[in-house]
Amino acid sequence: MAPRTSIAEFRELVNSSDRIMALLGAGLSAASGLPTFRGAGGLWRNHESTSLATPEAFEADPALVSLFYAWRKHMALKAKPNAGHYALAELAKRKDNFLCLSQNVDGLSSQAGHPESKLRLLHGSILDVTCFNKCGYVEYNNLSDPPCPALAPASEDYPPDQTMPLLDPNMPAPKIELEDLLHCPNCKTGLLRPGVVWFGEALDETMLDDIDDWIMLGRIDLMLVVGTTAAIAPAASYIYDAQQQGAVVAVVNPDPDSADGLGSSDFFFQGSAAEILPQLFVGVIGVMDGDVCQILVSITKFTTPPNVFSLPI
Ligand SMILES: [Zn+2]
Repeated sequence: MAPRTSIAEFRELVNSSDRIMALLGAGLSAASGLPTFRGAGGLWRNHESTSLATPEAFEADPALVSLFYAWRKHMALKAKPNAGHYALAELAKRKDNFLCLSQNVDGLSSQAGHPESKLRLLHGSILDVTCFNKCGYVEYNNLSDPPCPALAPASEDYPPDQTMPLLDPNMPAPKIELEDLLHCPNCKTGLLRPGVVWFGEALDETMLDDIDDWIMLGRIDLMLVVGTTAAIAPAASYIYDAQQQGAVVAVVNPDPDSADGLGSSDFFFQGSAAEILPQLFVGVIGVMDGDVCQILVSITKFTTPPNVFSLPI
């Protein structure tokens, strides 16, 4: 049986839901102009972007990986949250028992005002800095762009009709000496690296325990899956855990394959989270605040997507 697609039915569910969990992926930030690094767009200077996101890659070529992350940080700092981020932040403010697990490292949920107590960054943040030698040094919310002068080629802006030299695989990569990369001020020997979780690395155990404790507190009414295929553990297992706690699953994704495995009581909304989420939550926000129009204006004034109200209701 196909999942449900009725916005009216979903609004009733979200309105009556007490405990809600959400899992966010790169698709949420796609409407803010940040690449998802999947499929055809997954290359960066002819490198598979996933092959640059490992400790081994950093060890082998710290300059290249540092450039890749300096560029991504520059993109994240330039990006603005979209209506999907704002809608989730508004929902979080109005639902006491809402826990949002984000796989995104771009900081856009926080920038949209998502309460930190209801947000868990599974894969860390590109704005945080740690020591590659694991001496314990951590710097939160570092906004330096570029992170150091040697990485300046990653922070250059070009008109849309020009290719940034750094992104042109036919241009040689900037030559960067190891001593010109940032070193740890604590142990003095380790290189500084982004505070994200790379492939092959473990997620923060305290955070995982905290999430498990929240899940075990009782029945979960709704599991929102936004902009992710949830193919990577432990994200995928959270959907299963929520179902074990009774949750109806609602997937918001442009990719029809992301509805695979949903049952007839679940929901699937095909399209951009930035367009769909404000519509899905409008009933809740209105009921909770008493002024639907005002909330919608506050959500959409930052981004004004052209067709926020275009879905049939
Ligand atoms: Zn160190």
